[in-house]
Amino acid sequence: MPGFTPGRRWQPPFYPFKNEPIGSRLLESIERAVKGPMFGCRMCGNCLLQETAFICPMECPKGARNGPCGGSTQEHCYVDETRPCIWYKIYERSFKMGREEILLEVLPPLDWDKVGTETWGDVVQQIKKVGVRYFIGGMASRDPAQRAIVWDSVFRPVRQPEWWQGDSKYHAPSYTEPVSELERRLKAGEFVVTAEVAPPLTTSTKKLIENIKMVKPYVASINFTDAPSATPRMSSWACSKIAIENGAEPVMQIASRDRTRTGLQGEVLGANALGVRNILCLSGDNMIMAPQPRGRMDILDLDSIQMLWILRRMRDEQRYLDGRAIKFPPKFFLGAAASPFASEPKFQAIREHKKVNAGAQFFQTNLVFDPEGMDEWLNELAKRNILDKVYILIGITPLKTLKMAQYMDKEVPGVCIPEKVLKRMEAAGDRAEEEGVQIALEIIEKIKGKQGIHGIHIMAVGWEEIVPRIVTEAGLLSKTTPGEKVPQPS
Ligand code: SF4
Repeated sequence: MPGFTPGRRWQPPFYPFKNEPIGSRLLESIERAVKGPMFGCRMCGNCLLQETAFICPMECPKGARNGPCGGSTQEHCYVDETRPCIWYKIYERSFKMGREEILLEVLPPLDWDKVGTETWGDVVQQIKKVGVRYFIGGMASRDPAQRAIVWDSVFRPVRQPEWWQGDSKYHAPSYTEPVSELERRLKAGEFVVTAEVAPPLTTSTKKLIENIKMVKPYVASINFTDAPSATPRMSSWACSKIAIENGAEPVMQIASRDRTRTGLQGEVLGANALGVRNILCLSGDNMIMAPQPRGRMDILDLDSIQMLWILRRMRDEQRYLDGRAIKFPPKFFLGAAASPFASEPKFQAIREHKKVNAGAQFFQTNLVFDPEGMDEWLNELAKRNILDKVYILIGITPLKTLKMAQYMDKEVPGVCIPEKVLKRMEAAGDRAEEEGVQIALEIIEKIKGKQGIHGIHIMAVGWEEIVPRIVTEAGLLSKTTPGEKVPQPS
């Protein structure tokens, strides 16, 4: 049924967890029989077709309900390369229909009490609530604005349950004093540097501590990844705690891949009590990249935008997802990933805008090798008026070999390496490492002056020793930590 769902593939429907009364079962069967062939309905129990240009987002193998994940491209889905990413199809059609701004509404995770059950009953109940005559009269109106109001009065309460109340608005943080050193430096207008240190594969923390101590004087904060490539390593919160014990400030990365809503809320409270203030919310690399045997690759309990929404409300509204009050709420500086080159800049800008609205205060971007090519994305963010609401740190990596450059260009979603960079790496021969460092320094020089860019995030991929040299030679040593002795890079 390509007219309804471009690139349609069959996804199995859900069935209710509990035995339902006969009337409900009958209605479910009718809804499944009608919406299944038309939209590929999976019976998620919380229909979003109005917001997604009438393409069911549950066609996404991961069930992402707020936009594409970081791994997909406009060409294909990342979990199943034989199908297109349904979210880019939703973006394309939304732009064609002029409905793209509707995509900004932060949509709730599935309510598993309702999964598999029908949605039509909820719609009928809501029509009764607003008044059948009001609904029919409104929908018959010639005024499109009036029709939209009446439509929304029925469908908004259905898709936005009491416990979620998502919207399309920006919610400024409820606090003013910075909660972390990273936030303090960004607010002070410093061009900041953060860097990634790889968590160890064993219980030995010797190398981890050495790397933390080596990198610490050169950066505002250190990121600890959360099982990249869906491959187990020491947890991000444990590395974050070790960083704090060694006088460094961590950015704890959390991948929704491994979190349930219960686990997420418990983990961030614990991490906050241990001193973690910066949290980067990610979807995480899919299980498709994991070593075998692989875990579930499909439906996620939460996506990264829902994680931001939940954490922001825990901090600013002092409540859990279920509405319970948090007497001593956590303090977070919340971050998210951004990807300037993953697809058309106007599509990516919608995704970044939604993250800012949900609670992202800083972005750490995917790797950038084409600083000039990034301008279109920045312009789209500027049009959306979000550049003054989020700090942007550009992802930088020093290439080590031509092979690494080719791999990243071909295999890593959202990373584009211009031909001229590949040629330079090829021509460098056994000087490739040095050439990679020079390329990174040139990129940093070009982005330093760009409006809307507030720093860099160095992802050295196991080459942490290079961080001090890059920061020093790029002229980015912090001037806001007087008294700290900065060792010279070797
Ligand atoms: S959003 Fe949910 S209810 Fe709506 S068509 Fe898709 S699976 Fe069915």
